[in-house]
Amino acid sequence: MSEFRLDPTTREWVIIASERAKRPRDLMSRAPHPQPEAHLTECPFCPGNEEQTTNETASYPDPATGLWRVRVFENKFPAVSPDGLADRVEDHPLALSVKGVGMHEVVVESALHNRLLGEMEDDEIFDVVRAYRDRLRELHTQHFVRQVIIFKNHGVSAGTSLEHPHSQIVATPVVPRYRRHQYDVAVQHFDERGRNLYLDIVEFELERSVRVIRENTSFVEIHPYASRRPFETWIIPKTQRASFAEVSDEELRQFGGALRDSLHGLLVGLNNPDFNHILYTGALGDENEPHFCWHLRVYPRLTAVAGFEIGSGIHINSSVPEDTAQFMRGVVSSK
Ligand SMILES: [Zn+2]
Repeated sequence: MSEFRLDPTTREWVIIASERAKRPRDLMSRAPHPQPEAHLTECPFCPGNEEQTTNETASYPDPATGLWRVRVFENKFPAVSPDGLADRVEDHPLALSVKGVGMHEVVVESALHNRLLGEMEDDEIFDVVRAYRDRLRELHTQHFVRQVIIFKNHGVSAGTSLEHPHSQIVATPVVPRYRRHQYDVAVQHFDERGRNLYLDIVEFELERSVRVIRENTSFVEIHPYASRRPFETWIIPKTQRASFAEVSDEELRQFGGALRDSLHGLLVGLNNPDFNHILYTGALGDENEPHFCWHLRVYPRLTAVAGFEIGSGIHINSSVPEDTAQFMRGVVSSK
């Protein structure tokens, strides 16, 4: 029989449909991405084509060559742009708007066109997550910014339009409703229990251990209790900080390693599936509050979102997180 499970971070129900459960191997990508070349002359993100992506905001050199290894610039086709004021305009009570003020940046993760995060060395992925943190710190100083969303789309079904490995950063002048809701749930938990919700999840999952993939000194990787999708993965720090902007270099190194290992598991175990990863960090002004804890979630695109999900907001997950976690531990140990 299927089971409704409550996500403690959003108070949303998820259906774990164990009767429709597919074995983890059945979810493996049938047609893996063909391995591209290391350099493509026509790719706007490959070295040599930097004039196509101007307005660079950060660059991290490879110490061996002095050439850039990670590069950040403004998106050529931004969802939001930094000109103007974030004033609310209410032309009618039912027509409230704000100008599309914000920043939309691209983080090119490697100078190599075919270098995946899941295959990177420690120093390479450190520069990627360092770029995330440094840009977050900088964007927090902009007058219009209320929330920064850092994410990656890998593969066509995850929404990417360019093959060269890259992430995106969008700073918005409003706090998205979904983020605020998540924060409110954490505040309520803190007010009731006097403890941080995410540290409680870490403690609970380590105690039960069935949904834990691995841990290092600073992070735990789990398939959450109420996973919305097969192989949904969370990487949660063991030390509470509301904002990713506050993370130290040492912790960033460990985070980079945890992210690489997690994505390597998907790459090997599921044949390089399309996925999104999203970094959840507190809104501007909440950085030093004890309620929330920044973390990262990975959503592999192994199944489609259908009418029931759109109509109800309840996701039907055809995999059981305890089973997928066990499968992934097997992948890890056979590495
Ligand atoms: Zn390229």
